[in-house]
Amino acid sequence: MRECNVCRRERPNRKYVHEGKLTCKKCETSRWKSFLRVLVLAKNLTAVERLSNRIGYMGTSFIMLSPYLLKYDNLGAYTYIAGACLSIPQVFIAKQWNLVAVNVNLLIGYGLYILNT
Ligand SMILES: [Zn+2]
Repeated sequence: MRECNVCRRERPNRKYVHEGKLTCKKCETSRWKSFLRVLVLAKNLTAVERLSNRIGYMGTSFIMLSPYLLKYDNLGAYTYIAGACLSIPQVFIAKQWNLVAVNVNLLIGYGLYILNT
């Protein structure tokens, strides 16, 4: 007999998977925990995904900053283009095609805006 570290009940040794186990079989395989395990996808990001995520955050901050910089000699248009260029790899790798379209639209729109001014 030993005490489970989750439910705190005294259970016989046959209720544990092996001698070193502190959690009883019932607590390890409860329906709620198996349901929660189904919901969570354990996904390890590749190096390219991590790098593109960090660059994407930088691009997003450029895009967030841009509306406030537009009135300062059109500096905001350049930061919009920089933000779109930095964000495209992240959304492209994640296959978020709607956001790829938005960023390409930013590139084209503000590219034409800079060319016309
Ligand atoms: Zn237990």
